[in-house]
Amino acid sequence: PPRGTTLIEARDVTKRFGGLVANNKVSLEVKAGEVHALIGPNGAGKSTFFNMISGVDDPTEGEVRLLGEPMTGHASREFAARGLGRTFQHVRLLGTRSVLDNVALGAHLRGSKGWIASMLRLDRREEQALLAESLRQIERCGLADHVDTPAGSLPLGQQRVVEIARALAGQPAVLLLDEPAAGLRHLEKQALAQLLDQLRREGLGILIVEHDMEFVMNLADRITVLDFGTVIARGTPDEVQRDPRVLEAYLGG
Ligand code: ADP
Ligand code: MG
Repeated sequence: PPRGTTLIEARDVTKRFGGLVANNKVSLEVKAGEVHALIGPNGAGKSTFFNMISGVDDPTEGEVRLLGEPMTGHASREFAARGLGRTFQHVRLLGTRSVLDNVALGAHLRGSKGWIASMLRLDRREEQALLAESLRQIERCGLADHVDTPAGSLPLGQQRVVEIARALAGQPAVLLLDEPAAGLRHLEKQALAQLLDQLRREGLGILIVEHDMEFVMNLADRITVLDFGTVIARGTPDEVQRDPRVLEAYLGG
């Protein structure tokens, strides 16, 4: 999609857990070619929101649209097939398997036969195409030297990049990253920021949930701030940093 196209959009999304309102009419959109950050204190409702816009959980009210299509009632598999890639807060790699195997799993999610058939090599030609795509994403992410390395033996920073490569192998238009910088060393964070900046320039839309404020403020084009399930501020990093409500939310939380 061309730069500026709205890729994913939440409209007045509400999620209730019994009497608790975890998300209260949250609206947000991610456009092609931007990094949008969702921030807020612990318990603000960030993970709840992430789950709803990736099909892991259904909103109580409101609507999520992916590339203009309403996604109500669709499972996460369908979100992935229609252009959404995501990573999780905790690394989910097959540690003893190679980087290539791990990334190929992401490519299989997009294959016509599903990953079980592909893994059983019922279609060699499709298998070759998926492997080629996986190698392309591994190179794009700067991991070409580690194609055969067991994923679990890499430093955490590179494991996170393997997860991003795996998501990219599904050829998403929009990428959701849950705390991608958590636990990384300074240089690893710089490398990650550089990769995300490159992906943004290539036209991907990226939504990150992230606690590392320095990382967010340096990278994000736009920021949405949640507190107690409600959007309390949105804008550029400069605007959000100067907003007294944001300061109050963090100090009060
Ligand atoms: P964040 O990711 O911003 O830290 P969460 O989305 O995890 O916040 O949680 C928001 C609120 O919703 C919290 O009060 C949390 O306890 C509550 N919550 C989250 N998931 C559930 C659930 N499955 N059942 C009940 N309450 C939940
Ligand atoms: Mg969370």
